[in-house]
Formats: sequence, structure tokens, C-alpha cells
Amino acid sequence: MKNQYQTEEAKITKITVDTPDVKLFRLEMVNSDVPEFYPGQILEISLPGYGEAPVAYCSSASERKYFEICVREIGLLTKRLHELKIGDTIGVRGPYGYGFPTDEIKKRNTLIIAGGIGMIPFRSLLETACDNPDNYPKDIQVFYGSKNKEGLLFESDYDKWCKKIDMHLTLDEGKEGEKVEGVYCDIGLITKLFDKTEVIKDAIAIVCGPPVMCKFVINELKKHNFADEDIYLSLERRMECGVGQCEHCAVGSYFVCKDGPIFSWDKIKGIEGAI
Ligand SMILES: Cc1cc2nc3c(=O)[nH]c(=O)nc-3n(C[C@H](O)[C@H](O)[C@H](O)COP(=O)(O)OP(=O)(O)OC[C@H]3O[C@@H](n4cnc5c(N)ncnc54)[C@H](O)[C@@H]3O)c2cc1C
Repeated sequence: MKNQYQTEEAKITKITVDTPDVKLFRLEMVNSDVPEFYPGQILEISLPGYGEAPVAYCSSASERKYFEICVREIGLLTKRLHELKIGDTIGVRGPYGYGFPTDEIKKRNTLIIAGGIGMIPFRSLLETACDNPDNYPKDIQVFYGSKNKEGLLFESDYDKWCKKIDMHLTLDEGKEGEKVEGVYCDIGLITKLFDKTEVIKDAIAIVCGPPVMCKFVINELKKHNFADEDIYLSLERRMECGVGQCEHCAVGSYFVCKDGPIFSWDKIKGIEGAI
């Protein structure tokens, strides 16, 4: 039986500095194939002496030669990861969790709402949808908010995404009317976009961002008549084992690693402290 904590070696083949504290790492497996994953699923990355950290897959699920992760430097492991160079290796295990509701996204329109580094898992979904337009025939609208222009992730992808996706950006602070890679930037909190934009109809909504943002966004979604079962949230918790054993990431009777990280609002709205 395979040891579920066993890591595989992955080699860094490309590093892109996305913002002052966020880097995008391209990884190739050293002794195995890239595991099949779905957008929204997570993996555990490890560095000897620094432990493990959960991160989201960030590249197209149809790319079989490599996968990408995007990591913000925040503490011990992520600082060490940011020091690594092309050719260095890290440990990886996964994928874990269920990811985004892909079947629903293929059948219905989708509104994505991302705040800050909450955009990271959505890149995998957007890249996969752009690579496979026949599999993702419905419309996708994105509301993406960042503190400032410097904090925006994946700017070089916007041109490609905008061919399929209706993208809207908002910055907490900045100059009104600025454009980033051709996309107009509103100034204000992400909830402002609900007033300024024609919100996509017959849609599910998927939200990933800081908990305070999620609360206000849910209020807006309810005002726009989204049913609780059509609202999905990506939850972030201090995850340890990744396989539902250690219970660090428990939310009520669920585990973020095993049952999530994406949950429909009707499942978790009654759980105290869920967001
Ligand atoms: C489901 C899931 C998906 C994630 N995806 C990504 C991703 O794609 N990219 C990315 O950059 N990060 C992601 N994270 C967060 C990432 O796992 C943490 O930033 C990482 O574990 C920090 O490790 P570290 O050793 O560098 O920090 P540490 O030295 O362990 O901690 C540094 C500081 O950050 C706090 N902290 C660390 N992790 C968390 C957490 N999960 N929640 C709240 N506070 C925390 C600590 O309390 C401490 O104050 C994800 C987390 C989860 C649960």
C-alpha cells in the first residue's frame, strides 16, 4: 500500500516574479508523471528542515509536462522556497480535495470573485477553460480585487483570458481610470463591482479571498438572488496532513483538505466560524 505521506521530487524549471512577495514556480516531476488534477485542488509542498505547506495548483489541468504553483512569501517554508533557483528540487504530494465544481461550470455561467492571492487557484481554472473552450462553453465573468496595482497577479495572462472571459479589476487604492494590460481598473472595494457591472445571469458564483471579503461578497450575491447552493467558497485553514487525519483544518464536521477546500455556502453557512 502506498504511504500517503510519501512525497515525490519535483524540479523547478522556471520562476516568474509576479509581485514583490509572490513568485510563480514551474515544476516538472523528476521520477513520475504530473499527477492528474482538477482546478481548485491542492498539493502539499515540502522542503527538508522547513516542513510542508498546502498550495493550490495554478496552471492548466490539461498541461501534462509540468504544473505551476504560485506562492506568497509569508513564513519559514515560503521564504526558503523563494530563495530556490531553477534546477533545485522540492517534495510534492497530492492532489488533495475536490477542487471547483467543474461539472456545474461546464453547464452554467460562472461568476468568479477573487481577492488578493485568492486569485491563485482561479488561474488554473481560467487557463484550463481557455485551453479547452469546447469543454467550457458557458460564460465566465471575473471580479478581481487587489490592494493596489503592484499586488495584481498574472497580468501577462489577461490578454489571453479576455478573449474568453469578461474580466473586471478593482484596486483599493490607485488612480481612477487606469488600465492594466488593457483591462480597466475601478477604484474601491470589490463589492463596488456589483453596482457598476452587469452581473452575469443564470450563474454559479465561486469566491476566494480574505474572510472579511467573503462575508460582504455573500451579502452582494444574495442581493443578486444567487441561491445558497449556487455560491461556492474556498476556505483557508492551517492544514497539516492533507488527508483528513490530523483534524487541524476541521470546519464543523468537514475537513478543508479532504472535503474542500471548496464548499457550497448552503453546506457551511450554519457552522460557527466557517468564514
Ligand atoms: C487550502 C489552502 C490553499 C493554499 N494555497 C496557497 C497558494 O496557492 N499559495 C500561497 O502562497 N499560499 C497558499 N496557502 C497558504 C500557505 O499554505 C501558507 O502561507 C504556508 O503554509 C505558510 O508556510 P510558511 O512555513 O512559509 O509560514 P509559517 O512560518 O508557518 O507562518 C508564517 C505566518 O503565517 C501564518 N499562516 C501560515 N499559514 C496560514 C494559513 N493557512 N492561514 C492563516 N495563517 C497562516 C502563521 O500563523 C504565521 O503568522 C494555502 C493554504 C490553504 C489552507
